[in-house]
Amino acid sequence: MSRVYNFSAGPSIMPEAVLKRAAEEMLDYGGSGMSVMEMSHRGKHYNKIITDVEESLREVLSIPENYKVLFIQGGATLQFSMVAMNLLGRTGKADYAVTGRFSSNAFNEGKKFGSVRTCCDTSDINHTKIPAQNGLFLDAGASYMHYCMNNTIFGTLWPYIPETSSVPLVCDMSSCILSEPVDVSRFGLIYAGAQKNMGPAGFAIVILREDILAPLPVVPAYMDYAIHIKNESMYNTPPTYGIYILGLVLDWIKGLGGLGTIKTLNEKKSAVLYKTLDESSLFHTKADKSCRSLMNVVFSTGSDELDDKFVKSAAAEGMLTLKNHRSANGLRASIYNAMPMEGVEKLVEFIRKFERENI
Ligand SMILES: *Cc1c(COP(=O)(O)O)cnc(C)c1O
Repeated sequence: MSRVYNFSAGPSIMPEAVLKRAAEEMLDYGGSGMSVMEMSHRGKHYNKIITDVEESLREVLSIPENYKVLFIQGGATLQFSMVAMNLLGRTGKADYAVTGRFSSNAFNEGKKFGSVRTCCDTSDINHTKIPAQNGLFLDAGASYMHYCMNNTIFGTLWPYIPETSSVPLVCDMSSCILSEPVDVSRFGLIYAGAQKNMGPAGFAIVILREDILAPLPVVPAYMDYAIHIKNESMYNTPPTYGIYILGLVLDWIKGLGGLGTIKTLNEKKSAVLYKTLDESSLFHTKADKSCRSLMNVVFSTGSDELDDKFVKSAAAEGMLTLKNHRSANGLRASIYNAMPMEGVEKLVEFIRKFERENI
């Protein structure tokens, strides 16, 4: 067996320890005589799994007690409309920070439901920089302010949490959740798709303060947070296997020492990669230094042809998926929690070698 280093932005690399444990527990989970994916979501084994996963998530992220935790199918994309349908009712208005592709998608979805505007839009600088607090034009009458903390395609990370006074803050943390500690109490609602730092694709977690809910007059049952809250994520069949894997990932994080340790590891990995790229005379990075992502390192040689050659030659050496999103040119190394330092070191060595051979 040989495993590659997978730099995909999502679905993405998983901790090997998690995959091994899932394999060990595949045929007979905890003496149940069946796999987790075969069991009733209302049976006693699964009931313990989902309860423990929520508890683990609360522990790892230090989620205050007055926040609900939900597991919902449909990925982060469903949350773009769910957020609007469940929160816009208060004033009918909302502010969106557009700093990349997904926040732009969220904004376009929000527009369908109310009087939604941008409080900043970095399209004109190709989303290379996050505006400062005084560059956010906030409406005190907004039902919420929405932003995306880590911009997966553009490789930027908000270096601060926006101050919105009494306007609830809604954040898409799909590509940075669990990458560092976060003060949950600053947010009204946090959501994240699972397939970057949490587990397999197919669901999102939502962490929310119930008092911010203000649903529109018509909300489909599945998209109604209140229904998910009332049914404790069991309104219908939850994404059972994914939630179980998230539990294994959380155990792995706790075993490493929690999010403080994870953050240190992520800072080390990204620093090694950025340093190599900064010293390079062939490659350049795209994101402004003030807001570089710890998770998605976006770079390029400036030539599509050389970038393609880089992707192909890296793949031949067991480093996969280094091309950026189909909507963007250039290269991207996604180095989520599960990417070991050895993977980054191997990539750095390869970058240096490629540079020597192609300059
Ligand atoms: C991947 C991603 C999404 C989309 O997630 P899906 O689960 O595919 O819907 C949304 N926002 C961010 C920041 C992402 O990285």
